[in-house]
Amino acid sequence: MALIVQKYGGTSVGDPERIKNVAHRVARFQSMGHQVVVVVSAMSGETNRLIALAKSVQAHPDPRELDVMVSTGEQVTIALLAMTLKEIGVKAKSYTGAQVRIVTDNAHTKARILSIDEANIRADLNEGHVVVVAGFQGVDENGNITTLGRGGSDTTGVALAAALKADECQIYTDVDGVYTTDPRIVPEARRLATITFEEMLELASLGSKVLQIRSVEFAGKYKVKLRVLSSFEEGGDGTLITFEDDDNMEKAIISGIAFNRDEAKITVLGVPDKPGIAYQILGPVAEANIDVDMIIQNVGADGSTDFTFTVHRNEYAKAIEILRKVQTHIGAREVSGDDKIAKVSVVGVGMRSHVGIASAMFRTLAEEGINIQMISTSEIKISVVIDEKYLELAVRVLHKAFNLEQSGSPVLV
Ligand code: ASP
Ligand code: MG
Repeated sequence: MALIVQKYGGTSVGDPERIKNVAHRVARFQSMGHQVVVVVSAMSGETNRLIALAKSVQAHPDPRELDVMVSTGEQVTIALLAMTLKEIGVKAKSYTGAQVRIVTDNAHTKARILSIDEANIRADLNEGHVVVVAGFQGVDENGNITTLGRGGSDTTGVALAAALKADECQIYTDVDGVYTTDPRIVPEARRLATITFEEMLELASLGSKVLQIRSVEFAGKYKVKLRVLSSFEEGGDGTLITFEDDDNMEKAIISGIAFNRDEAKITVLGVPDKPGIAYQILGPVAEANIDVDMIIQNVGADGSTDFTFTVHRNEYAKAIEILRKVQTHIGAREVSGDDKIAKVSVVGVGMRSHVGIASAMFRTLAEEGINIQMISTSEIKISVVIDEKYLELAVRVLHKAFNLEQSGSPVLV
């Protein structure tokens, strides 16, 4: 007998028919002798609908009230699923985040989980119930409803699995696993049977939307066995997120290619090349709560230099405005930018032990005449910023160059 946490995303519970499918799968797992905790998202489109509704009365909705509102999406699904389970003869009980007591900090709309009281869930499981928990929500210490950020039900699932010391956390979604890249762009993209936790963390932070990044961080911290599976196809093994780099296995050096169209680039030209300049530029940006991704400072010449960084495209206008305000104070000649850029990254733990990956990547892009505007690297990732219009081409040629369509064969560069 195992204790399994299953999380179902919005499309998997998008209508009563799909909820029935979920209920039957849950029932099957229970009949095999497993204890099952189910975490669900709001029905597909519901969170967006609620946010739009809030914005129709307040342009920038009050975060506390917004949380009260969007958390209702998941509350509907837990009740529907519990009812559906009962209807097919399965003992089931639903819980909101507050009812479990999933305690978070008070950062409304992006709260972090601090603790989970798992006692009631465990008691229900021991009495033969399936426990259905609302994803994405919790309460702060004063009882205010909080939410965990978009995609936050993944994090609820993994956090519950950690708290309950579950044998496996299964994330059911509309794809059947983690792919070498987005199959909508590269039809030859291949499902990975396994991926390491570190690679998954990079892919999630690079814009792969399969798992919320916080859920991956949580899984890493608490060593939760995590698997991504399709809720529409039966019998697949999905993708298992592993911890150990399997030394005995010949692994591909590159596991996947991630990309992101959500970024914009800002350049501050002709700033004095002196101590404190990076702080003077990025300080006001950070104060406005704008996340900065890549940063490049050119080598100074004649006492001045250029400074370039990327931000989320939604925050581009705001960041430009902030910098234009401080431009004279900093002594910058010009502030310019481009919001038609894209970031493409190759990811793989095999990079640690192989040289030449970066040059293979740059050569491949050069052969297609794609200009690289910025480069950044980590131990297991190389990212480049390019013109958005070459994004799909870049992903396709890199996928081919690194031989990612060939299952499991190590890459030769
Ligand atoms: N319903 C929430 C959202 O759309 C949480 C989730 O689906 O994970 O972001
Ligand atoms: Mg999701």
